[in-house]
Amino acid sequence: MDVNRTTKQTARLLCLVLTLALLFSACQGAPASSGSGAETVTATGSAKGMEGDVVVEVTASADAILSVTVTEQNETPGIGSVAVEQLPAKIVETQSLQVDAIAGCTVTSEAIKAAVRAALESAGIDCAPFDVAPQAAGEGDRTAETLSCDVVIVGAGGAGLTAAAQAAENGASVIVVEKMPIVGGNSLKATGGMNAADTQYQAALGITDSGVEEFIADTMNGGHQINDLALVTTMAENSAAAVDWLTGIGAPLPKVAATGGTVHKYLHEPEDGSAVGSYLVEKLQARAEELGVQILLNTCAAEIRMQDGAAAGILAEGESTDYTIEAKAVVIAAGGFGANFEMMTQYDPSLAGAVTTNHAGATGDGITMAVAVGADTVDMEQIQLHPTVYQATGLLVSESVRSMGGILVNSEGKRFCNDMSTRDAVSAAELEQPGSYAFIIFDQRIVDDLSSCQKYINNGLTVQADTYEGLAEAMGLTGEAVANFVDTMNTWNASVAAGEDKEFGRNNGMDGDLSTAPFYAIRIAPGIHHTMGGLRINTETQVLTAEGEAIPGLYAAGETTGGVHGGNRIGGNAVCDFVVFGRIAGANAAALALEGQAAA
Ligand code: ADP
Repeated sequence: MDVNRTTKQTARLLCLVLTLALLFSACQGAPASSGSGAETVTATGSAKGMEGDVVVEVTASADAILSVTVTEQNETPGIGSVAVEQLPAKIVETQSLQVDAIAGCTVTSEAIKAAVRAALESAGIDCAPFDVAPQAAGEGDRTAETLSCDVVIVGAGGAGLTAAAQAAENGASVIVVEKMPIVGGNSLKATGGMNAADTQYQAALGITDSGVEEFIADTMNGGHQINDLALVTTMAENSAAAVDWLTGIGAPLPKVAATGGTVHKYLHEPEDGSAVGSYLVEKLQARAEELGVQILLNTCAAEIRMQDGAAAGILAEGESTDYTIEAKAVVIAAGGFGANFEMMTQYDPSLAGAVTTNHAGATGDGITMAVAVGADTVDMEQIQLHPTVYQATGLLVSESVRSMGGILVNSEGKRFCNDMSTRDAVSAAELEQPGSYAFIIFDQRIVDDLSSCQKYINNGLTVQADTYEGLAEAMGLTGEAVANFVDTMNTWNASVAAGEDKEFGRNNGMDGDLSTAPFYAIRIAPGIHHTMGGLRINTETQVLTAEGEAIPGLYAAGETTGGVHGGNRIGGNAVCDFVVFGRIAGANAAALALEGQAAA
C-alpha cells in the first residue's frame, strides 16, 4: 500500500513537473529544452532511418526519460512503422537506450534510439544513466495458457497467411503463431511478382505463348531438372486459379512481364508497380483477420504436439505466456533458413561470411520441428545466391529492374553475361569479375515505373548523373573504363532498338532502352537469397517421412518445403509457391479438421 501511494505521488509530481516544463517551453515559443536549469526538459533529435530522417521529441530529466514521441518519419509501412509504433514506449518503460531493436526493423529502431540520444544530448542531459541494459522479465512473470482451434499454423509469412485465409474460408477456426513482431517474413521483401500461367491477365494482354507447359519446362530447366516434377506440375496447373483467388480477395496482379531465365511472360505484378510482397501480405492478413483468424505475434513455435502418431497442435512461447495450442491439424509455414548460418554452412561451408537478404526470422525452425517428429528433408544443400544484393545492408535490388531493361556492368565498364539468365548463372558470372562485384544500371524510365527504385534512391544506394560519362565517374570508374562504359550503354541501346543482343544473347527485358536521364547505378554482388531445400511434401502438402509415409495431421507450404525449385529458383516462383501450396495446405488442413468434427 505504502509503495503504491509513494509511486502514485511520484507520478503526480512528475506530471506536475512535466506540465510546468511544457508550459514554460510553450511560453518561450520553442519546442526545445529550457536550458535554464529546469529539471524536466523537452527536446528534439533526429537520425537517419530507412527512408530518410526520423525525428523524435523527448521529455526527460537527468534521471528519467518521461516520454518519447516520433514526430516525423517516412518509414516503410508494415516494417519500419512497427518500430515507430512500439519502440518509443519500450524506451520509456525500460529507461534504456540499449533496449533491443524491434526484430525485422533494425534500421528504424537504431534510428529512433540515436534520435533519442541526440535529443537528450541537445538538452544537455548526460546519457550515461540510460546506457544500461534493459531489465529482462523474470521467469516468475510468465503465465501458461491452453488454446484450441481446428488448424494451427506456424508462421505468418506468405504461405502461412494464405493457408490461414483459405482454411478460414473453408470453415475452420484458425490460430497463426508468428515469432516476429510483424507478419510477412521473407515474403514481405518480395519485390518482383508472381509467376502464373494461362491466366485471365495474360489472356487480356494477348499473351498466348506462356502457358502451363512452358511454365513447367522453365521451372524444371531453371532448377537443373532436380525439382520434384509432380510438385512443379501442381504449382503450374493451379497458378491461374491462385491468381483468380487473389483477385477475389482484392489483390489483382494484372501487369505481366518476363522473369529472369525465360523469354516467357508469366510474371504477374500489381498494377501500380508496387512491390508484390508487401502488397500481398497486407491483403492476405486483412482477409485472414476478416475471417476471424487469430494471429499471435512475438510467439515462437517450439514443438509439434503428437498424439497417437498424429500432429495435434504445437507448443509455443509468447513474450510472457507459454502456449499449448491444441489443433486437429498443423500447417508448418515457417519459411527457410537463409538467416541461419550454422544450418546453412552445415550444408554448404562456402557460404560462411556471405551477406544474406533474409529477414531475421528465417532460421529453419519449421524444418527442425518437423524433423523432430519424423519428417524427411530434400535438397537441403541447394541454397540460392541472388546476383543483385547491396552488400552493406543485404538489401536485394529487384530482378524487375533488369526485366524492365536494366543491365549489369563490371568495374571495367563492360557487360559480362546475359543479365537475364538464371540467378545462379548470373551470380557465378559476377563472382568471376574483377573484385567479384558489378553495377546494376537503370534510367529514369524504370524509376518512374517501379516503386522499389525510388526506395533505393531514398536509401542512398544509388549514384546518378545526367550523362553516361558522369555516371561512370560517379561509379568510381577511371581511365579506359569510362569510355568502355559509354560504349557499353550506346551498344546496349542499339541492341534494344534492333531487338537483338549479339554480345550475350539476352532475349528478354528489352522492351525499353536506357536513354532517359538521369541514369542510375548501384554497386552489387551476390548474396544468400533462398533456401530451395526443406521438408519433403507430396502434392497435397502432407509432410512425408523418409519412407514416403504422410505424417497424419501435418502439412507444410512455402519456403519451409523442398522440391519445388530444385537446384535454382526462378524469380516469381516463391510467390507462386506460397500462394498455390498455402491454399492447398489450408484447404486440406481444414478438411481434415472439419471431417474429424463431423465424426465426433
Ligand atoms: P513463406 O514465403 O514460405 O511464407 P516467409 O519467410 O515469408 O516464408 O514466412 C515465414 C514466417 O514464419 C516468418 O514470418 C517467420 O518469422 C515465421 N517463423 C519462423 N519460425 C517460426 C517459429 N518458430 N514460430 C513462429 N513463426 C515462425
